[in-house]
Amino acid sequence: MSTVEDVELIDPDLSGERLLYRLFHERGVRVFSPVPLRAQCSCSRHAVNSMLSSFAMQDRAEMVKEGKIVVTCEFCSSVYEFTPEEAGL
Ligand SMILES: [Zn+2]
Repeated sequence: MSTVEDVELIDPDLSGERLLYRLFHERGVRVFSPVPLRAQCSCSRHAVNSMLSSFAMQDRAEMVKEGKIVVTCEFCSSVYEFTPEEAGL
């Protein structure tokens, strides 16, 4: 990669495949078909409630703020709210 000049990386006439070939043809280059990606989190209200139920009763009680427990998924930022009853309190 150190042999690549910055201008080559943004050269519209130099395709990614061509650049790969220039750099790595001695090792052999294979280009796979692109695979579409999709951001998706596996969290769910049920899974969050199960996670909550694994905490000790006292810990769950301390999580109650203004009459409810609010859990925010750190991966997708979904917010789940539970009443103390739903959290088994
Ligand atoms: Zn999530």
